[in-house]
Amino acid sequence: MVAANPSDALPLTCLNEEDRFFQSSVRQFAREQIAPHVRSMDESGVFRKDILQQMFALGLMGIEIPEEFGGQGGTFFQAVLAVEELAVVDPSAAVIIDVQNTLVNNALLRWGNEEQKKRYLPRLATSMLASYALSEAGSGSDAFALTTRAEDRGDHFILNGRKLWITNAAEAGLFLLFANVAPEAGYKGITCFLVERDFAGFQVGKKEDKLGIRASSTCELIIDNCRVPKENVLGEVGKGYKIAIETLNEGRIAIGGQMTGLAQGALQHALAYARERKQFGKPIADFQGVQFELAEMATQVEAARLLVYNAARLKERGLPFLTEAAMAKYFASQAAETVASKAVEVFGGVGFTKDYPVEKLYRDAKIGRIYEGTSNMQRVTIAKQLYSKG
Ligand SMILES: Cc1cc2nc3c(=O)[nH]c(=O)nc-3n(C[C@H](O)[C@H](O)[C@H](O)COP(=O)(O)OP(=O)(O)OC[C@H]3O[C@@H](n4cnc5c(N)ncnc54)[C@H](O)[C@@H]3O)c2cc1C
Repeated sequence: MVAANPSDALPLTCLNEEDRFFQSSVRQFAREQIAPHVRSMDESGVFRKDILQQMFALGLMGIEIPEEFGGQGGTFFQAVLAVEELAVVDPSAAVIIDVQNTLVNNALLRWGNEEQKKRYLPRLATSMLASYALSEAGSGSDAFALTTRAEDRGDHFILNGRKLWITNAAEAGLFLLFANVAPEAGYKGITCFLVERDFAGFQVGKKEDKLGIRASSTCELIIDNCRVPKENVLGEVGKGYKIAIETLNEGRIAIGGQMTGLAQGALQHALAYARERKQFGKPIADFQGVQFELAEMATQVEAARLLVYNAARLKERGLPFLTEAAMAKYFASQAAETVASKAVEVFGGVGFTKDYPVEKLYRDAKIGRIYEGTSNMQRVTIAKQLYSKG
Protein backbone atom coordinates (compact mmCIF):
# COMPACT_ATOMS: atom_id res chain seq x y z
CA MET A 1 0.00 0.00 0.00
CA VAL A 2 3.04 2.29 0.20
CA ALA A 3 3.62 4.30 -2.98
CA ALA A 4 6.89 3.42 -4.75
CA ASN A 5 7.93 7.03 -4.64
CA PRO A 6 6.41 9.58 -2.24
CA SER A 7 5.61 11.86 -5.16
CA ASP A 8 3.34 9.13 -6.60
CA ALA A 9 0.92 9.56 -3.73
CA LEU A 10 -1.54 12.23 -4.81
CA PRO A 11 -3.75 13.95 -2.25
CA LEU A 12 -7.07 12.12 -2.06
CA THR A 13 -9.14 15.06 -3.22
CA CYS A 14 -7.00 15.71 -6.32
CA LEU A 15 -9.11 14.70 -9.29
CA ASN A 16 -7.80 13.97 -12.75
CA GLU A 17 -9.11 16.06 -15.62
CA GLU A 18 -11.76 13.56 -16.65
CA ASP A 19 -13.13 13.23 -13.11
CA ARG A 20 -13.11 17.01 -12.64
CA PHE A 21 -15.06 17.49 -15.86
CA PHE A 22 -17.52 14.76 -14.91
CA GLN A 23 -17.97 16.23 -11.42
CA SER A 24 -18.63 19.73 -12.74
CA SER A 25 -21.17 18.52 -15.30
CA VAL A 26 -23.11 16.60 -12.61
CA ARG A 27 -22.90 19.66 -10.35
CA GLN A 28 -24.27 21.90 -13.06
CA PHE A 29 -27.10 19.49 -13.86
CA ALA A 30 -28.06 19.24 -10.19
CA ARG A 31 -28.08 23.01 -9.69
CA GLU A 32 -29.89 23.88 -12.88
CA GLN A 33 -32.30 21.01 -13.41
CA ILE A 34 -32.96 19.43 -10.00
CA ALA A 35 -32.68 22.28 -7.47
CA PRO A 36 -35.82 24.14 -8.65
CA HIS A 37 -37.94 21.03 -8.03
CA VAL A 38 -36.49 19.69 -4.77
CA ARG A 39 -39.10 21.16 -2.48
CA SER A 40 -42.12 20.13 -4.54
CA MET A 41 -40.76 16.59 -5.01
CA ASP A 42 -40.19 16.34 -1.25
CA GLU A 43 -43.74 17.49 -0.57
CA SER A 44 -45.37 15.21 -3.13
CA GLY A 45 -43.08 12.29 -2.36
CA VAL A 46 -42.68 11.69 -6.07
CA PHE A 47 -39.55 12.01 -8.19
CA ARG A 48 -40.22 13.82 -11.49
CA LYS A 49 -40.15 11.55 -14.54
CA ASP A 50 -38.54 14.23 -16.69
CA ILE A 51 -35.59 14.53 -14.30
CA LEU A 52 -35.22 10.75 -14.23
CA GLN A 53 -35.15 10.77 -18.03
CA GLN A 54 -32.49 13.48 -17.98
CA MET A 55 -30.42 11.38 -15.58
CA PHE A 56 -30.57 8.53 -18.10
CA ALA A 57 -29.75 10.87 -20.98
CA LEU A 58 -26.71 12.20 -19.12
CA GLY A 59 -25.42 8.67 -18.57
CA LEU A 60 -25.82 8.84 -14.80
CA MET A 61 -27.69 5.53 -14.66
CA GLY A 62 -24.99 3.48 -16.34
CA ILE A 63 -21.74 5.08 -15.22
CA GLU A 64 -19.71 1.86 -15.06
CA ILE A 65 -21.58 0.02 -17.80
CA PRO A 66 -19.19 -0.46 -20.75
CA GLU A 67 -19.87 1.56 -23.88
CA GLU A 68 -20.62 -1.62 -25.86
CA PHE A 69 -23.74 -1.99 -23.68
CA GLY A 70 -24.71 1.67 -24.03
CA GLY A 71 -23.13 2.86 -20.77
CA GLN A 72 -20.51 5.48 -20.02
CA GLY A 73 -17.56 3.11 -19.53
CA GLY A 74 -16.71 5.14 -16.42
CA THR A 75 -15.33 4.21 -13.03
CA PHE A 76 -16.59 3.36 -9.56
CA PHE A 77 -14.98 6.56 -8.31
CA GLN A 78 -17.06 8.54 -10.80
CA ALA A 79 -20.21 6.81 -9.55
CA VAL A 80 -19.30 7.96 -6.03
CA LEU A 81 -18.63 11.48 -7.30
CA ALA A 82 -22.02 11.56 -9.04
CA VAL A 83 -23.84 10.38 -5.90
CA GLU A 84 -22.01 13.02 -3.84
CA GLU A 85 -22.74 15.86 -6.27
CA LEU A 86 -26.44 15.05 -6.60
CA ALA A 87 -26.77 14.78 -2.81
CA VAL A 88 -25.50 18.36 -2.39
CA VAL A 89 -28.78 19.39 -4.01
CA ASP A 90 -31.06 16.40 -3.40
CA PRO A 91 -30.15 13.23 -1.49
CA SER A 92 -33.21 11.52 -3.05
CA ALA A 93 -31.81 11.95 -6.56
CA ALA A 94 -28.50 10.64 -5.21
CA VAL A 95 -29.92 7.40 -3.81
CA ILE A 96 -31.80 6.69 -7.05
CA ILE A 97 -28.55 6.59 -9.01
CA ASP A 98 -26.71 4.99 -6.10
CA VAL A 99 -28.89 1.86 -6.13
CA GLN A 100 -28.84 1.64 -9.93
CA ASN A 101 -25.07 1.98 -10.29
CA THR A 102 -23.42 0.59 -7.19
CA LEU A 103 -25.82 -2.27 -6.44
CA VAL A 104 -27.74 -3.41 -9.53
CA ASN A 105 -25.41 -2.57 -12.44
CA ASN A 106 -22.44 -3.57 -10.33
CA ALA A 107 -23.92 -7.01 -9.56
CA LEU A 108 -24.83 -7.62 -13.21
CA LEU A 109 -21.38 -6.59 -14.38
CA ARG A 110 -19.68 -8.90 -11.90
CA TRP A 111 -21.95 -11.93 -11.87
CA GLY A 112 -24.09 -11.66 -15.01
CA ASN A 113 -23.43 -13.99 -17.93
CA GLU A 114 -23.05 -12.54 -21.42
CA GLU A 115 -26.68 -13.19 -22.30
CA GLN A 116 -27.95 -11.47 -19.14
CA LYS A 117 -25.65 -8.51 -19.72
CA LYS A 118 -26.89 -8.14 -23.30
CA ARG A 119 -30.50 -8.43 -22.17
CA TYR A 120 -30.44 -5.96 -19.31
CA LEU A 121 -27.43 -3.60 -19.34
CA PRO A 122 -28.45 -1.54 -22.41
CA ARG A 123 -31.85 -0.90 -20.86
CA LEU A 124 -30.39 -0.15 -17.42
CA ALA A 125 -28.05 2.40 -19.00
CA THR A 126 -30.72 4.18 -21.00
CA SER A 127 -34.26 3.76 -19.75
CA MET A 128 -34.99 1.18 -17.05
CA LEU A 129 -34.74 1.87 -13.35
CA ALA A 130 -33.90 -1.04 -11.07
CA SER A 131 -34.16 -2.09 -7.43
CA TYR A 132 -32.15 -4.22 -5.05
CA ALA A 133 -34.50 -6.37 -2.98
CA LEU A 134 -32.88 -8.01 0.02
CA SER A 135 -34.65 -6.72 3.17
CA GLU A 136 -37.85 -8.16 4.60
CA ALA A 137 -40.04 -7.37 7.62
CA GLY A 138 -38.18 -9.93 9.70
CA SER A 139 -34.71 -9.57 8.21
CA GLY A 140 -32.90 -6.24 8.15
CA SER A 141 -29.53 -6.23 9.90
CA ASP A 142 -29.82 -10.02 9.98
CA ALA A 143 -30.30 -9.98 6.21
CA PHE A 144 -29.65 -13.68 5.67
CA ALA A 145 -32.62 -14.62 7.84
CA LEU A 146 -34.77 -13.78 4.81
CA THR A 147 -37.79 -16.02 4.34
CA THR A 148 -38.67 -15.46 0.67
CA ARG A 149 -38.53 -18.92 -0.85
CA ALA A 150 -37.60 -20.15 -4.32
CA GLU A 151 -38.68 -23.61 -5.38
CA ASP A 152 -36.85 -25.35 -8.21
CA ARG A 153 -39.34 -26.53 -10.87
CA GLY A 154 -36.92 -27.68 -13.56
CA ASP A 155 -36.72 -24.92 -16.12
CA HIS A 156 -37.98 -22.27 -13.74
CA PHE A 157 -38.30 -21.30 -10.06
CA ILE A 158 -41.44 -20.40 -8.16
CA LEU A 159 -40.88 -17.55 -5.71
CA ASN A 160 -43.02 -16.72 -2.69
CA GLY A 161 -42.56 -14.07 -0.03
CA ARG A 162 -42.56 -10.38 0.78
CA LYS A 163 -39.84 -7.75 0.55
CA LEU A 164 -39.84 -4.48 2.45
CA TRP A 165 -38.10 -1.11 2.09
CA ILE A 166 -37.21 -1.46 -1.56
CA THR A 167 -35.74 1.74 -3.01
CA ASN A 168 -36.79 2.72 -6.58
CA ALA A 169 -39.53 0.06 -6.53
CA ALA A 170 -42.38 2.39 -7.58
CA GLU A 171 -40.63 3.11 -10.87
CA ALA A 172 -38.34 0.10 -11.39
CA GLY A 173 -38.62 -2.37 -14.27
CA LEU A 174 -36.10 -4.86 -12.88
CA PHE A 175 -35.56 -6.22 -9.37
CA LEU A 176 -32.46 -8.00 -8.13
CA LEU A 177 -34.31 -10.18 -5.67
CA PHE A 178 -32.83 -12.51 -3.07
CA ALA A 179 -34.68 -15.70 -2.13
CA ASN A 180 -33.70 -18.96 -0.47
CA VAL A 181 -33.80 -22.19 -2.52
CA ALA A 182 -32.76 -24.41 0.39
CA PRO A 183 -33.73 -22.99 3.79
CA GLU A 184 -32.22 -26.05 5.49
CA ALA A 185 -28.82 -24.94 4.15
CA GLY A 186 -29.21 -21.53 5.81
CA TYR A 187 -27.51 -18.65 4.03
CA LYS A 188 -26.00 -21.11 1.53
CA GLY A 189 -29.44 -21.43 -0.05
CA ILE A 190 -29.72 -17.73 -0.81
CA THR A 191 -29.91 -17.09 -4.53
CA CYS A 192 -30.16 -13.88 -6.53
CA PHE A 193 -32.89 -13.64 -9.18
CA LEU A 194 -33.45 -11.10 -11.94
CA VAL A 195 -37.17 -10.44 -11.64
CA GLU A 196 -38.93 -8.28 -14.20
CA ARG A 197 -41.80 -6.11 -13.04
CA ASP A 198 -44.33 -7.77 -15.31
CA PHE A 199 -43.53 -11.36 -14.33
CA ALA A 200 -46.75 -13.11 -13.29
CA GLY A 201 -47.07 -13.27 -9.51
CA PHE A 202 -44.93 -10.20 -8.87
CA GLN A 203 -46.41 -6.99 -7.56
CA VAL A 204 -45.16 -3.74 -6.06
CA GLY A 205 -47.10 -3.04 -2.88
CA LYS A 206 -47.46 -0.17 -0.43
CA LYS A 207 -45.21 2.85 -0.79
CA GLU A 208 -43.80 4.16 2.50
CA ASP A 209 -44.52 7.71 3.70
CA LYS A 210 -41.12 8.70 5.04
CA LEU A 211 -39.32 11.23 7.24
CA GLY A 212 -36.66 12.01 4.63
CA ILE A 213 -35.50 11.25 1.08
CA ARG A 214 -39.21 11.41 0.38
CA ALA A 215 -38.90 11.73 -3.39
CA SER A 216 -37.10 8.39 -3.55
CA SER A 217 -39.70 5.63 -3.58
CA THR A 218 -39.50 2.88 -0.95
CA CYS A 219 -42.01 0.05 -1.35
CA GLU A 220 -43.06 -3.39 -0.30
CA LEU A 221 -42.86 -6.20 -2.87
CA ILE A 222 -45.45 -8.94 -2.98
CA ILE A 223 -44.25 -12.20 -4.51
CA ASP A 224 -47.01 -14.78 -4.87
CA ASN A 225 -46.12 -17.84 -6.94
CA CYS A 226 -43.90 -15.74 -9.15
CA ARG A 227 -42.47 -17.74 -12.05
CA VAL A 228 -38.86 -16.88 -12.75
CA PRO A 229 -37.07 -18.62 -15.65
CA LYS A 230 -33.88 -20.45 -14.76
CA GLU A 231 -31.85 -18.18 -17.03
CA ASN A 232 -32.75 -15.35 -14.65
CA VAL A 233 -30.61 -16.67 -11.82
CA LEU A 234 -27.76 -14.19 -11.34
CA GLY A 235 -24.50 -15.98 -10.62
CA GLU A 236 -24.76 -19.45 -9.14
CA VAL A 237 -27.68 -20.98 -7.23
CA GLY A 238 -26.79 -20.72 -3.53
CA LYS A 239 -24.26 -17.91 -4.06
CA GLY A 240 -26.69 -15.04 -3.54
CA TYR A 241 -25.23 -14.33 -0.10
CA LYS A 242 -21.87 -13.58 -1.72
CA ILE A 243 -23.49 -11.24 -4.24
CA ALA A 244 -25.36 -9.48 -1.42
CA ILE A 245 -22.31 -9.08 0.82
CA GLU A 246 -19.97 -7.96 -1.91
CA THR A 247 -22.31 -5.47 -3.57
CA LEU A 248 -23.28 -3.93 -0.23
CA ASN A 249 -19.63 -3.66 0.81
CA GLU A 250 -19.05 -1.50 -2.24
CA GLY A 251 -22.40 0.27 -2.20
CA ARG A 252 -21.87 1.66 1.25
CA ILE A 253 -18.92 3.73 0.02
CA ALA A 254 -21.34 5.60 -2.23
CA ILE A 255 -23.78 6.04 0.67
CA GLY A 256 -20.84 7.67 2.44
CA GLY A 257 -20.62 9.86 -0.68
CA GLN A 258 -24.32 10.66 -0.44
CA MET A 259 -23.94 11.74 3.17
CA THR A 260 -20.82 13.80 2.37
CA GLY A 261 -22.71 15.59 -0.40
CA LEU A 262 -25.65 16.22 1.91
CA ALA A 263 -23.34 17.73 4.53
CA GLN A 264 -21.63 19.84 1.85
CA GLY A 265 -25.03 21.16 0.75
CA ALA A 266 -26.01 22.05 4.32
CA LEU A 267 -22.67 23.83 4.85
CA GLN A 268 -23.08 25.86 1.65
CA HIS A 269 -26.56 26.99 2.63
CA ALA A 270 -25.42 27.90 6.14
CA LEU A 271 -22.43 29.86 4.88
CA ALA A 272 -24.51 31.87 2.40
CA TYR A 273 -27.16 32.62 5.01
CA ALA A 274 -24.61 33.62 7.67
CA ARG A 275 -23.16 36.23 5.31
CA GLU A 276 -26.57 37.66 4.51
CA ARG A 277 -28.42 37.61 7.85
CA LYS A 278 -27.78 40.62 10.04
CA GLN A 279 -28.21 40.85 13.80
CA PHE A 280 -26.71 43.43 16.16
CA GLY A 281 -25.95 45.55 13.09
CA LYS A 282 -23.71 43.08 11.27
CA PRO A 283 -23.82 39.78 9.38
CA ILE A 284 -24.02 36.86 11.79
CA ALA A 285 -20.99 35.45 9.89
CA ASP A 286 -18.94 38.12 11.67
CA PHE A 287 -19.60 36.56 15.07
CA GLN A 288 -16.92 34.19 16.21
CA GLY A 289 -19.53 31.85 17.69
CA VAL A 290 -21.03 31.37 14.22
CA GLN A 291 -17.60 31.12 12.57
CA PHE A 292 -16.66 28.31 14.95
CA GLU A 293 -19.79 26.40 14.02
CA LEU A 294 -19.07 26.83 10.30
CA ALA A 295 -15.44 25.77 10.82
CA GLU A 296 -16.57 22.65 12.66
CA MET A 297 -19.04 21.84 9.88
CA ALA A 298 -16.39 22.30 7.16
CA THR A 299 -14.00 20.01 9.04
CA GLN A 300 -16.65 17.30 9.34
CA VAL A 301 -17.35 17.50 5.60
CA GLU A 302 -13.66 17.31 4.71
CA ALA A 303 -13.04 14.35 7.02
CA ALA A 304 -16.05 12.48 5.62
CA ARG A 305 -14.92 13.15 2.05
CA LEU A 306 -11.39 11.90 2.75
CA LEU A 307 -12.71 8.64 4.23
CA VAL A 308 -15.08 8.13 1.30
CA TYR A 309 -12.52 8.91 -1.42
CA ASN A 310 -9.92 6.73 0.27
CA ALA A 311 -12.31 3.75 0.47
CA ALA A 312 -13.36 4.29 -3.17
CA ARG A 313 -9.76 4.50 -4.37
CA LEU A 314 -8.78 1.38 -2.40
CA LYS A 315 -11.66 -0.53 -3.98
CA GLU A 316 -10.76 0.70 -7.42
CA ARG A 317 -7.12 -0.37 -7.00
CA GLY A 318 -8.22 -3.86 -5.96
CA LEU A 319 -6.89 -3.37 -2.41
CA PRO A 320 -8.77 -4.45 0.74
CA PHE A 321 -11.39 -1.81 1.55
CA LEU A 322 -13.99 -3.45 3.80
CA THR A 323 -13.10 -1.66 7.05
CA GLU A 324 -12.44 1.65 5.31
CA ALA A 325 -15.85 1.42 3.57
CA ALA A 326 -17.59 0.76 6.89
CA MET A 327 -15.72 3.67 8.51
CA ALA A 328 -16.57 5.96 5.61
CA LYS A 329 -20.28 5.23 5.78
CA TYR A 330 -20.35 5.31 9.56
CA PHE A 331 -18.52 8.61 9.84
CA ALA A 332 -20.10 10.36 6.86
CA SER A 333 -23.64 9.61 8.06
CA GLN A 334 -22.76 10.93 11.50
CA ALA A 335 -21.18 14.02 9.94
CA ALA A 336 -24.27 14.59 7.77
CA GLU A 337 -26.52 14.57 10.81
CA THR A 338 -24.25 16.92 12.77
CA VAL A 339 -23.70 19.35 9.91
CA ALA A 340 -27.36 19.45 8.84
CA SER A 341 -28.39 20.03 12.46
CA LYS A 342 -25.91 22.87 12.85
CA ALA A 343 -27.09 24.36 9.54
CA VAL A 344 -30.66 24.50 10.90
CA GLU A 345 -29.29 26.36 13.94
CA VAL A 346 -27.30 28.85 11.82
CA PHE A 347 -30.56 29.70 10.04
CA GLY A 348 -32.32 30.26 13.37
CA GLY A 349 -36.14 30.22 13.23
CA VAL A 350 -36.39 30.10 9.45
CA GLY A 351 -34.17 27.03 9.44
CA PHE A 352 -37.01 25.22 11.15
CA THR A 353 -39.41 25.96 8.30
CA LYS A 354 -39.92 24.44 4.88
CA ASP A 355 -39.25 27.80 3.24
CA TYR A 356 -35.52 27.10 3.53
CA PRO A 357 -33.71 23.96 2.36
CA VAL A 358 -31.89 22.94 5.52
CA GLU A 359 -34.78 21.33 7.41
CA LYS A 360 -35.13 18.87 4.52
CA LEU A 361 -31.43 18.03 4.61
CA TYR A 362 -31.73 17.49 8.36
CA ARG A 363 -34.56 15.00 7.76
CA ASP A 364 -32.74 13.39 4.84
CA ALA A 365 -29.58 12.86 6.90
CA LYS A 366 -31.22 10.34 9.22
CA ILE A 367 -31.35 7.58 6.63
CA GLY A 368 -27.56 7.43 6.38
CA ARG A 369 -27.37 5.69 9.74
CA ILE A 370 -30.00 3.13 8.75
CA TYR A 371 -29.80 1.76 5.21
CA GLU A 372 -27.10 -0.41 3.62
CA GLY A 373 -26.19 -1.51 7.14
CA THR A 374 -27.01 0.51 10.26
CA SER A 375 -24.30 2.43 12.10
CA ASN A 376 -24.13 -0.41 14.63
CA MET A 377 -23.53 -2.92 11.84
CA GLN A 378 -20.70 -0.75 10.50
CA ARG A 379 -19.20 -0.72 14.00
CA VAL A 380 -19.52 -4.51 14.14
CA THR A 381 -17.51 -4.73 10.89
CA ILE A 382 -14.87 -2.29 12.11
CA ALA A 383 -14.52 -4.03 15.49
CA LYS A 384 -14.21 -7.48 13.85
CA GLN A 385 -11.29 -6.17 11.85
CA LEU A 386 -9.65 -4.77 15.01
CA TYR A 387 -9.97 -8.14 16.74
CA SER A 388 -8.65 -10.04 13.73
CA LYS A 389 -5.48 -7.95 13.94
CA GLY A 390 -5.03 -9.11 17.51
C1 LIG B 1 -35.64 4.51 3.15
C2 LIG B 1 -35.12 3.10 3.17
C3 LIG B 1 -34.65 2.55 1.98
C4 LIG B 1 -34.19 1.22 1.97
N1 LIG B 1 -33.81 0.66 0.78
C5 LIG B 1 -33.54 -0.68 0.75
C6 LIG B 1 -33.34 -1.33 -0.51
O1 LIG B 1 -33.36 -0.73 -1.59
N2 LIG B 1 -33.13 -2.68 -0.51
C7 LIG B 1 -33.12 -3.40 0.65
O2 LIG B 1 -32.92 -4.61 0.57
N3 LIG B 1 -33.29 -2.80 1.86
C8 LIG B 1 -33.51 -1.46 1.92
N4 LIG B 1 -33.73 -0.84 3.13
C9 LIG B 1 -33.69 -1.63 4.36
C10 LIG B 1 -32.51 -1.28 5.24
O3 LIG B 1 -31.32 -1.78 4.69
C11 LIG B 1 -32.81 -1.83 6.65
O4 LIG B 1 -33.83 -1.02 7.19
C12 LIG B 1 -31.59 -1.81 7.54
O5 LIG B 1 -30.64 -2.76 7.12
C13 LIG B 1 -31.94 -2.07 9.01
O6 LIG B 1 -32.76 -3.17 9.13
P1 LIG B 1 -34.09 -3.08 10.04
O7 LIG B 1 -34.86 -1.91 9.55
O8 LIG B 1 -34.76 -4.39 10.00
O9 LIG B 1 -33.59 -2.75 11.48
P2 LIG B 1 -33.10 -3.84 12.58
O10 LIG B 1 -32.15 -4.78 11.94
O11 LIG B 1 -34.30 -4.39 13.25
O12 LIG B 1 -32.32 -2.92 13.58
C14 LIG B 1 -32.96 -2.13 14.59
C15 LIG B 1 -31.87 -1.58 15.50
O13 LIG B 1 -31.16 -2.68 16.14
C16 LIG B 1 -29.78 -2.54 15.90
N5 LIG B 1 -29.17 -3.87 15.77
C17 LIG B 1 -29.64 -4.94 15.09
N6 LIG B 1 -28.79 -5.96 15.19
C18 LIG B 1 -27.74 -5.54 15.94
C19 LIG B 1 -26.52 -6.12 16.38
N7 LIG B 1 -26.20 -7.37 16.06
N8 LIG B 1 -25.69 -5.38 17.14
C20 LIG B 1 -26.00 -4.12 17.47
N9 LIG B 1 -27.12 -3.49 17.06
C21 LIG B 1 -27.98 -4.20 16.30
C22 LIG B 1 -29.67 -1.75 14.60
O14 LIG B 1 -28.41 -1.10 14.51
C23 LIG B 1 -30.82 -0.78 14.73
O15 LIG B 1 -30.42 0.33 15.48
C24 LIG B 1 -34.16 0.49 3.18
C25 LIG B 1 -34.61 1.07 4.36
C26 LIG B 1 -35.11 2.36 4.36
C27 LIG B 1 -35.63 2.92 5.65
